[in-house]
Amino acid sequence: MQSLWNDEEAAGFAAQGSLGLRVYSSQLLGRDPDLVLHGGGNTSVKGRLENVFGETEEVLYVKGSGWDLQTIAAPGFPPVRLAHLKRLASLSSLSDTDMMRELRLALLNPSAPTPSVEAILHALVPLRYVDHTHADAVVTISNSPNGEAILREIYGDEVLVLPYIMPGFILAKQVHEATRDVDWRRLRGIVLLHHGIITFDDDCRISYERMIELVSRAEDYLSARVGASPAGESRSANGTASDPDYRHLATLRRQASALMGAAVLARWDRSSTAKSFSALPDVADLIARGPLTPDHSIHTKPFGAVFGDDPLPGLEQYQRDYLAYFKRHAKDYHTCLDPMPRFGAWLGKGTIALGADCKRLQIVSDIVEHTTRAIQWGESLGGWTTLPKQDQFDLEYWELEQAKLRSSQTRPEFAGRVVLVTGAASGIGKACVDAFLAQGAAVAALDRNPEVETRWRSAQVLGIACDVTVAEQVRDALHRVVGWFGGIDVLVSNAGSFPASRRLESMDDDTWSHSLELNLTAHLRLLRDCTPFLQAGIDPSVVFIGSKNVPAPGPGAGAYSVAKAGLAQLARVAALELGGSGVRVNTLHPNAVFDTGIWTDEVLQQRASHYGLSVDEYKKHNVLGRQVRSSDVAAGALALAGSAFACTTGAQVPVDGGNERVI
Ligand SMILES: [Zn+2]
Repeated sequence: MQSLWNDEEAAGFAAQGSLGLRVYSSQLLGRDPDLVLHGGGNTSVKGRLENVFGETEEVLYVKGSGWDLQTIAAPGFPPVRLAHLKRLASLSSLSDTDMMRELRLALLNPSAPTPSVEAILHALVPLRYVDHTHADAVVTISNSPNGEAILREIYGDEVLVLPYIMPGFILAKQVHEATRDVDWRRLRGIVLLHHGIITFDDDCRISYERMIELVSRAEDYLSARVGASPAGESRSANGTASDPDYRHLATLRRQASALMGAAVLARWDRSSTAKSFSALPDVADLIARGPLTPDHSIHTKPFGAVFGDDPLPGLEQYQRDYLAYFKRHAKDYHTCLDPMPRFGAWLGKGTIALGADCKRLQIVSDIVEHTTRAIQWGESLGGWTTLPKQDQFDLEYWELEQAKLRSSQTRPEFAGRVVLVTGAASGIGKACVDAFLAQGAAVAALDRNPEVETRWRSAQVLGIACDVTVAEQVRDALHRVVGWFGGIDVLVSNAGSFPASRRLESMDDDTWSHSLELNLTAHLRLLRDCTPFLQAGIDPSVVFIGSKNVPAPGPGAGAYSVAKAGLAQLARVAALELGGSGVRVNTLHPNAVFDTGIWTDEVLQQRASHYGLSVDEYKKHNVLGRQVRSSDVAAGALALAGSAFACTTGAQVPVDGGNERVI
């Protein structure tokens, strides 16, 4: 592990004083997933602040909840009165709920985020900077049969090694007791078994680089005993995956959503590391033993599931195991959480992560990747050994975490649901992607234009360059979508084009057949290949983007109007055929949507003058006298796919401002 410290970069942060440097080295820690993952770890710096009375108070700037080290900024470090924190440490007991209230009471800024649960521990260290991570290598060694002895051997007496204890007040108490007579100037760090490691110094860089140095020593030990890091292996998918695998995955996701009581996403990791883990003969035993650090059980639950070729029995088994685990460890006041696994080994095929939305799916995926690697290391060190299940349970059912669950806000309508949009790079398709994203959906954005792959820099979007008229490209794209999000719930079949105007007597075969191919046949193929996934989807529905030309065709638009009329008929038959399996199929007929690539200023000017209108009049030339935008069509698609139209299928809805020829 290398220090990422860069003097030039650091100088920029140092201009904001010691808090600035704290921000900098916290980001450096956050950049290395082998040190911290998603909100894990915390850091602090001690300083002084003048209050409104002109008095100077000693404060601890400590990571606030909801911040991630990788992206943390100064407002992510709430200032807390140091004296109050130290006084709290002298109490003999304090519930974590009371501790959190006290932490907020001790804030010098009431609108700052809630300080980390480990704030008291940070306050107890009499040096300015404190860095705390959950470094994989250190925790992995502690999760082996002689872990404690190995860590003592690696670090000698420069590092204090403390037994596992729940984070929060009792951990602070433990450190308080253990360091009463310690010479802080000689101590280089503290290892918390099964949890993580702490370093500290009055100098920001030294504290950070000591973390790197101590963790590197653990990594060196591992690579000497175990060999090269499995992380060095290719993470890319390899081998073939069959159609039935993807269908099984989609069905698994639907059943998992039922266990969760809400739509969830699933991700299949087919990398060589994941596959080799899932192929271990004792994978069922290993996955049941416990997480890398108990902290992870909040995200992944303390054990995973095991799925066979058909993963459904594995899901049912997990539900039974989880309820039995709850019964064994729960007290009267605990409420059982959902029994949905957050991850599982799919025997010989890789691992599956499950999450309520894209963010949680990503967190689980990353933790699972690190955990499966650590388990394989731990096995080489003599056997993956984790804490007793009761400790894992205590973390999963920690009062602070349960309180968070109770206060969770309402989910956006499409959270946990997967929407596939074609023609997504521009116009109506792009507006649809944005509209579904805003409602929490995971969106697969397909377009012939490869820009679609990078347009949305969001974990919620999977952009795929795909020509919908090429059957193999469509099939591959669907497999990628299902592997990445777990299924397909909503199809917005939008890709199309408007051919050059041509009257029937001069229609050439190419224009005609290309229009039918793209504006009609490609929609059929996409629908056909999506059908098994839609049938396994959650409140599944299809929205076809038709055209006003269906009820009101125009001269010169034969190739387009005929294809779109066919599409309208295709939608009606699809509504009849798929209704039995709960898939709704509706069509929007937009007209005169001018904020798309086709309508340049020049074309607009030409068309407007053709009708003797100004451009503005031309844009609003409809019954309502209002301009129709891509976002209006997208709002229609969102509504049709949503619960407002739960009882509607086979509908043809105009989005045209009202057209005299249609009404
Ligand atoms: Zn921690």
